[in-house]
Amino acid sequence: MNDFLMKTYNKKPASFVKGEGIYLWDDKGRKYIDALCGLAVTSLGHSNPEISNIIKTQSETLIHSSNAFNIKPQEELAEKLCLLSGMDKAFFCNSGAEAVETSIKIAKKYGNDKNIKNPKIIVMEGSFHGRTMAALSATDGEKVQKGFAPLLDGFIRAPYNNVECIEKLVLEHNDIVAILLEPIQGEGGIIIPDKGYLKNLKRICDSNQLFLMIDEVQSGFCRTGKWFAFQHDEITPDVIMVAKALGNGVPIGACLAKNTAADTLTPGTHGSTFGGNFLSTTVGLKVVDIMQTLSINDNAKEMGNYFQKELKEKIANKKTVKEIRNKGLMIGIELVNECINLAEVALKSGLIINITQDNIIRMLPPLIINRTQIDDIISILNKIID
Ligand code: PLP
Repeated sequence: MNDFLMKTYNKKPASFVKGEGIYLWDDKGRKYIDALCGLAVTSLGHSNPEISNIIKTQSETLIHSSNAFNIKPQEELAEKLCLLSGMDKAFFCNSGAEAVETSIKIAKKYGNDKNIKNPKIIVMEGSFHGRTMAALSATDGEKVQKGFAPLLDGFIRAPYNNVECIEKLVLEHNDIVAILLEPIQGEGGIIIPDKGYLKNLKRICDSNQLFLMIDEVQSGFCRTGKWFAFQHDEITPDVIMVAKALGNGVPIGACLAKNTAADTLTPGTHGSTFGGNFLSTTVGLKVVDIMQTLSINDNAKEMGNYFQKELKEKIANKKTVKEIRNKGLMIGIELVNECINLAEVALKSGLIINITQDNIIRMLPPLIINRTQIDDIISILNKIID
């Protein structure tokens, strides 16, 4: 603990000094399995040699110029991300929340351009979109919003995974401009909507000229076995937000958009000093390149299936376990009772996990994980859940 840090986190008693692959070491030399990846960030493992090399080379060449000039790797990464996601254009920033802010600005500007006085965005119950003022206003829950009134106006909240309710809201309000949601709710407890849910939302959006804006900050970059989770529903949204795994630990975020949404922001309407600089976009290019070379999607899918099978066989039948949910390597184990101290118990056993919604174990392990390493995680879980 440090008296000079604002107390925004209840920190757990560990100080890591080194990482390699799926492992971390603390200052006492203890080794841990990182089944959380710094919350879906270090998907290609800690100290990935190719990424370390590119950081070294690029930092010795040029880290930063300014968005007032052309930045070649930024242009290349924009093109790559657009090809992978089906979007037309990218805006680079430094975090997930900033990517969400960008999408909200796109929706509001779209509404303003259509002379809608108070454009509204439908957001979901159980959602999480980040901690900046617009992102926390779009987020559900007292935990995130309490103490920050007045929140940003213009959000209508709907139950997740409920198409009828959205249809009704769109009929009732003529000032809705967009729907913003996660394709799988991460912080909400790994909530996976029904197959076809996003397809239905896209249909509603298309017939009412609304933007479908998908927050892929946690679920993106192969975590669910596809580049982006919305691709399981075979749709192309109007806007998507990415961050986390794109930099494997180097801060980067992006808002990608298609058609009208891609041209809504014009010179002077948005910007970022650091967003998309030489260092972060060169790393982003390398991350995408490694993911493609290793067919990391296939590993996420295969290991996700193996994880699911092992969890079903060894964990699901425990009295303390209510439900196990996963899509690829986005994994939630819902327990019957509150288990907020379990992350610390796991830490003592050499495993890093996270507890969300007070009773759900969340794991977002590295996408390079193998069967033996999954067996090691299950063996620790087996002991601590009891
Ligand atoms: N959106 C989602 C779905 C997230 O899970 C998060 C962070 O966990 C964010 C947005 C905010 O990202 P950041 O913490 O990089 O601002």
